[in-house]
Amino acid sequence: YEAADWYDAESLLTPEERQVLSRLRSFLDAEARPLLAEYWERGEFPEQLARPLIDLDLMEPAELTKDGPARGIYQGFRIFELARTDASLATWYTAQAGLFRTAIRVGASAEQQAEWMPKVIDFSLKGVFSLTEPESGSDIAGGLSTTARRQPDGSWILDGAKRWIGGAATADVLAVFARDTADGQVKAFLVDRTADGVTLEKIHGKTALRMMQNAHITLTGVRVPEAMRLHNVSSFRDVAAMLRAMRSDVAWIATGIATGAFEAALAYVNERRQFGRPLGSFQLVQEKLARMLGNVTASLSLVVRLTEQQAKGIYRDQDSALAKMQTSLFMRDTVALAREVVGGNGITLAAGVARFHADAEAVYSYEGTHEINALIIGRALTGESAFTR
Ligand code: FAD
Repeated sequence: YEAADWYDAESLLTPEERQVLSRLRSFLDAEARPLLAEYWERGEFPEQLARPLIDLDLMEPAELTKDGPARGIYQGFRIFELARTDASLATWYTAQAGLFRTAIRVGASAEQQAEWMPKVIDFSLKGVFSLTEPESGSDIAGGLSTTARRQPDGSWILDGAKRWIGGAATADVLAVFARDTADGQVKAFLVDRTADGVTLEKIHGKTALRMMQNAHITLTGVRVPEAMRLHNVSSFRDVAAMLRAMRSDVAWIATGIATGAFEAALAYVNERRQFGRPLGSFQLVQEKLARMLGNVTASLSLVVRLTEQQAKGIYRDQDSALAKMQTSLFMRDTVALAREVVGGNGITLAAGVARFHADAEAVYSYEGTHEINALIIGRALTGESAFTR
């Protein structure tokens, strides 16, 4: 572990926080790792890990999140540990602890938060973030076409489709973003997954994040009571505030994936012998190890600093965009180098690198592609928006 956290960023945590992390790490090593290759190949999530992971005190108590984002690097390190073991485990966790919790924290009124947040924290109300649509990904702000029609009795009727929604099949509610037909603005609703008019289709044939299930959701005349509308969402501006907060989680995931691949590669080259010597003794291999370590260390330093800023309440689009973009670039470089030094075994699940190599591609694209994050940074640098319609 020392190699992965070269500058000992974990020493910034309290002893109690480190204890939780250490329990999490032991659980992941003993209970999760042995299952990963098999479940990845089957394209199924190991549901038996869900309850024990929740019981490992993964989320802060409700009182800590009531007034703001209890992100902090402690939360980041928990995401990092999960991703360092498996990207789907980290994505499963951030779907609830990042995406859904942020939707409630930013979008729900004080009364709604008082009712829902404790259940979000203990996972008794499981939710997913349903923003992307079949025809709108990067340009969702302008292209969002799911509609919400207000009814005379105050309820709403939703029509449209959502794509790529992670964890939808096992969620209780879907946080759905839809355009109000009256004022043209984006509103948000908690939709019961089993409500009339909601259909879910599993997206098959994925070559990345195979353990995490993504759904194509169709909404046909779905009635939602006004009480289930997120009262603090009145335009896409509020959705952007959610994205700004969540993107840093993905930077932690990218950092964890790079670290997991690096560690698997390091263990392999110390074991495997060619020309009568361990692979790790060759200069060209050592150069690749050094580059991987550089990527991992730079990423960890970046996310720690970003998260410290956010914990102080400093949220800027360009900050989380920079972290997501740069850690994703480092991740892609690292998983490719890791695969390379493991040779032919690098494309088998058994050597422990191939999963990270494949999964990195999904993380590279979700929650803002490389290009979109680069354009957010470009807009901040020049004052010119290059990606408006
Ligand atoms: P597109 O927008 O079609 O982009 C395709 C390519 O064109 C990209 O390289 C993009 O960068 C580039 N491009 C687009 N516009 C420009 C431009 N102006 N300039 C330069 N290049 C451009 N969404 C949810 O709402 N909830 C989820 O839970 C969720 N989970 C996901 C899980 C996975 C595994 C994946 C793959 C996606 C998930 N998504 C989810 C959707 C994800 O956020 C989108 O895939 C992402 O925003 C990109 O949209 P797109 O795939 O439609 O690509």
